[in-house]
Amino acid sequence: MLDIYTLGEEVLTEKCQPITKFDSGLRVLVDAMFETLTEADGVGLAAPQVGVGSRLFVINIQGKERRAYVNPQILETSIETETAEEGCLSIPGVWHDVQRPARVTVQAQDLEGKAFTVKAEGLLARAIQHEYDHLNGVLFIDRLDEEERGKMVKAYEKRTKGRRSRTL
Ligand code: ZN
Repeated sequence: MLDIYTLGEEVLTEKCQPITKFDSGLRVLVDAMFETLTEADGVGLAAPQVGVGSRLFVINIQGKERRAYVNPQILETSIETETAEEGCLSIPGVWHDVQRPARVTVQAQDLEGKAFTVKAEGLLARAIQHEYDHLNGVLFIDRLDEEERGKMVKAYEKRTKGRRSRTL
């Protein structure tokens, strides 16, 4: 299990660097990220969320998709958008509707460095875009207008404060 970095940590706001070594270190990291994702009951997890500033995320949608995306690039997004509620393991306890393109085409590399392309819609398209944003230091609350973003941060801080006082 890896520690999940939360709102306020610098690594979550930085642009991540491409992965150049497809070695056992990468496989170990990806295995640990999948484990952490399962434990946290999430759909996706990006490397900066575990404190690693590399262009990598993993997605696990039960029965549909379990894959690591290394150095992903979004090649195409649909003009048609969809709005759905999102949350983030790095901002636990808050959710908000986010509008995103309904479909995306993404190209990435697997753990051997081999390129693959995925055409996604629905939850997978949303997860890919959410995780891809993490690699550019963008959180889902950054996609909201300023007022709504502020409300989310406040709600999160209130929740965190509450948790801290309980554990004292
Ligand atoms: Zn997230």
